[in-house]
Parts: sequence; C-alpha cells; structure tokens
Amino acid sequence: MSVRNHLTGLDAPSLRGLKTVDATVSAVEPLDHNRTDEVQRAAARALDACDRDDWVERPEDEPPEVDWDRVGELLDRDPEAVDAGIPLDVLGTLRERYVRPYPSLLRISLDTEESITFAAGQYVSIRFHDIPRVYSVASSPNADEIELCVRLVPGGRLTPEFFQYLEPGDEVTVRGPFGEFTLEEPSGRDVAMLATGTGVAPLRSMIDYCFETGMDEVDGEQRDVWLFLGAGWEDDLAYRDHFRTLDDEHGNFHFVPTLSREQYLTDWTGETAYVQQTFAKYLDDSLVAVDEDDAIVPYLDSEVEHDVDARIDPGNVEVYACGVNAMVYSLTDVLERVGVPDDLVDAEGYG
Ligand SMILES: Cc1cc2nc3c(=O)[nH]c(=O)nc-3n(C[C@H](O)[C@H](O)[C@H](O)COP(=O)(O)OP(=O)(O)OC[C@H]3O[C@@H](n4cnc5c(N)ncnc54)[C@H](O)[C@@H]3O)c2cc1C
Repeated sequence: MSVRNHLTGLDAPSLRGLKTVDATVSAVEPLDHNRTDEVQRAAARALDACDRDDWVERPEDEPPEVDWDRVGELLDRDPEAVDAGIPLDVLGTLRERYVRPYPSLLRISLDTEESITFAAGQYVSIRFHDIPRVYSVASSPNADEIELCVRLVPGGRLTPEFFQYLEPGDEVTVRGPFGEFTLEEPSGRDVAMLATGTGVAPLRSMIDYCFETGMDEVDGEQRDVWLFLGAGWEDDLAYRDHFRTLDDEHGNFHFVPTLSREQYLTDWTGETAYVQQTFAKYLDDSLVAVDEDDAIVPYLDSEVEHDVDARIDPGNVEVYACGVNAMVYSLTDVLERVGVPDDLVDAEGYG
C-alpha cells in the first residue's frame, strides 16, 4: 500500500474531476452474523422465566424452538403483559432480530479499471443492474481497492439486488468522487468521530488515513482520536475488530462502541446510550457549563464503561459525525450546548 500526500477538505474541490469507471467486484462478505440460535436461546430463557415454557420446543441436542407466532400474537394484543411479568420489550426485540434477514450488512470490494482519486470521507455513486445509489468509501485513499459497507434496506431498489445477486467477478460502474465531508488540515486539537450504523464508513476511511499518514501527531504531540459508534447489536458494528486492534496499538485511539440491544443476547457490559449521550460521558465535565436541568447533565455525571483515562475538552476538539439524520441533528444540538465551536463540527446525514 503506498501512502499518498495528505488530501484534506481544502484539497477536495480540486479533486472534483468526476470520473466514471468500470469496476470488478472482488469481494462480497457479510459483516454481521447469523445469530438465530442465540436469539432462540435468549427468548426461551425469557419465556421460561415467566412460566411460558410450553411456548418452547426443545429438540434433543438442538437449540430451542420458540413459538414465534404465539409471541407475535401476545405482542400484538396485550400491552399490559409487561406488568403481568412477561418481558414484552425483550421478546419484541428478539423477535425483530429473529425475522431479520441474514446477512444484513455487507462489505463490498471493488477493483476499479482506472483509479479514482478521492479524499477520505468522500462518497461515490455505484450503478448495478442499472440502479445507481451513492455510498461512502470505507477504505483509505491509500488502499488498492475501493471498499463499501452496505446495509440491506428491505423493500429498497438497489440493496436487495446487492444482497441477492452481487458476487465476485460482477461488473459495476463507479462515478465520483463526491462530497465535502473530509478531514481538516491537522491541528493541535483532538478529534472525535461519531457514527451510527453504516455512517462509520467515511470515518473508517478517515481514521485509517489519519494513522497511515501520521496526522494523529502534530509538532511531535499526539492528539487523541475518538470513535463513538452506535448500533443495536454487536455484529452491526462494521469493522469492530479493526477498530479494537487500532485501539490496542495506538494509545491515542479510543474506540467506544455503544449498543442498545446487545444486552438482550449477551452479557454486554459496554456503553448502551445513544452515541451523542455516550460522547457527553467522556467530556471533561470540569470544562462544560450547561444549565443544571439540561438533559445532558446525567450523562456528564455518569461513570464511563470504556476503560480510558483521557477525556475530551469541548473547546479543543474537531467533531466529525455521520449517520441517520436524527442522530446528526441531536448531536449538533448537544455539541452547541456543551460548547464545541460550530466551525469545528462537520456532519453528514444519510436521511
Ligand atoms: C452521502 C451518502 C452516503 C451514503 N453512504 C452509505 C453507505 O456507506 N452505506 C449504506 O448502506 N448506505 C449509504 N447511503 C444510503 C444509500 O445511498 C441508499 O439510500 C441505501 O442503500 C438504500 O438504497 P435502496 O435502493 O436499497 O433503497 P431505496 O429504493 O432508495 O429506498 C427505499 C426506501 O427506504 C428508505 N431508506 C433509504 N435508506 C435507508 C436506510 N439506511 N434505512 C432505512 N430506510 C432507508 C428510503 O427513504 C425509501 O423510502 C448513503 C447515502 C448518502 C446520501
């Protein structure tokens, strides 16, 4: 892998020489796991605990089989059941995961006929079966291939085609690069990146590029680079092993996943709040001035679950955020309240 010169947001406009190139798919791999057996076991435990063990069949040497139709009927008709001791929230969440198609998250690698020069954080348009859609590039500009990280949108036009038909050797058309969501020139400030779901794609490109080119160090001083990544389940954290390795290798990289549903399946002991609330937990609260009744105060005051001594100075951090619009809007609201200067925030919403 060769390291190109640093490309920043300032350089990006000069890269707007859009290209349309053919590419061959070189890899299509699930990033999530098939967790059906785990889900059945967790639902069976929940049903046992409320004396509904007759809703579960237990074939010998096989995982239990939950009667999901009966669970569904209960969920549809009995909102009081939680009080009656039936954990509807747990069963509803597990059923959602049970019916979710596998895979639902793919890594797609593309070998372009001609290279496309892009800045970390930019996106490209992909045309497959005559349907074009845009995707952030998840690989570093230094990588030999363009990698995408795609979530299945059931009922969507392009993603079901990807999940059903795309395989190595297929041809797609790539057009790009697009977008202004790119790294700023290196500064003495720390960096905090926040994403939900596949919003991590452009941040993965930025993080790899940052460490490959030494942008995490300015004038001999290391700056902290944080990644707060939110998802429902642990296997929805794209590139989780990669980020954990980076966290082990670099004392100044801090990977803080936050998972809202994983505790229904495993003994997850990490963060569980929304990413913007989790971010607030890692602020240096002696440097934050908010009203005492501000909704963020409980998070500023609470213990962190990720073992790290560093804390974030809201007046000295650049923030990059990408994900669903709801997260991006609530985050920018929180950032304003805790005192992160507006011009240090760059955010992209996926709709
Ligand atoms: C700048 C940018 C970068 C993007 N990068 C990525 C990326 O890296 N990975 C990725 O998976 N997607 C990414 N997207 C979203 C992507 O462009 C498509 O919108 C998405 O893959 C759905 O395409 P589709 O043809 O399957 O669904 P469509 O037929 O386009 O949509 C069907 C319906 O689903 C809704 N919808 C679209 N996306 C979602 C979603 N994520 N969740 C729920 N409902 C949705 C649409 O509003 C529409 O109502 C990005 C979008 C933008 C604007």
